[in-house]
Amino acid sequence: MSTQYPEWIWHNGQIKRWQDATTHVMSHALHYGSSVFEGIRCYETPNGPAIFRLSDHNKRLYASAKIYDMPMPYGVDVINAACREVIKKNNLTRAYLRPFAYRGLGGFGLSADTPVEMSVATWFMGPYLGEGVLDAGIDACVSSWQRFAPNTIPAGAKAGGNYLSGQLIAREARRLGFGEGIALASTGLLSEGAGENLFLVFDGALHTTPVSAALLNGITRNTIITLAREAGIEVVERDMPREYLYLCDELFMCGTAAEITPIRSVDGRQVGTGQPGPVTRHVQEMFFGLFDGTTPDRHGWLEMLDA
Ligand code: PMP
Repeated sequence: MSTQYPEWIWHNGQIKRWQDATTHVMSHALHYGSSVFEGIRCYETPNGPAIFRLSDHNKRLYASAKIYDMPMPYGVDVINAACREVIKKNNLTRAYLRPFAYRGLGGFGLSADTPVEMSVATWFMGPYLGEGVLDAGIDACVSSWQRFAPNTIPAGAKAGGNYLSGQLIAREARRLGFGEGIALASTGLLSEGAGENLFLVFDGALHTTPVSAALLNGITRNTIITLAREAGIEVVERDMPREYLYLCDELFMCGTAAEITPIRSVDGRQVGTGQPGPVTRHVQEMFFGLFDGTTPDRHGWLEMLDA
């Protein structure tokens, strides 16, 4: 995000000025990573701005909180409404939303029943991995950092602490001159990108790594699986070894922020033709078609800003 902050933010039940949404330096989450959050996009559509799968994202927020035994001070309906309210208050239409719950101040120690506070921020966000990458693709590398094992930290929670792993992977990749890093699971098999799920294409079929491979069960991943199957494209969820990244016909990563970003090389090896391939293009068309009206919204995923 640029240093040009939006004016308004929702914090603990109130709309406040951005600079007034503060917390104490002794907040539990700052020390121990005890926060959960979501990333959601609002798109312009022919019928007005729509928040993409708002309810599903906030359901996942509450699922993440349940895993960490965090009592949420507001119901999910309050947070859904806050998401709409803060976008409107900032006069945004194309926006990224960040609902967030964190253990704040009160009590010391790891198991303290520190009260949970909540905020919802929003700002304009273009393509996460850089201008032009949705067409040109990125060069990726396999990280020297593995994902955490499933019996250590639950990858299925979107918790602040998980993103220490993501930071190691993403920062190493950028330092080495790559657009993004891809991690292996503790099994040595493919997991996901620093903040994105993976799809490989073999013979016209989509292959994606399973939720057991230390990844976040992405809502974009689920959207792609659903749209692809409806379009008659075969989708396989399975474990895959690292070298499949080099051998597949096409490769892309996906996520709310990264949307659908083609990958043109991994570890210096060209993927397919080195250009986004036909299946990747088809998936992009179906996905972005949800927002220009060319893909019917059969599942009620577009939750209108002015509902
Ligand atoms: N994996 C990780 C680690 C992520 O942070 C994200 C982004 N939230 C994803 C996958 C993609 O998830 P989604 O499509 O729900 O944004």
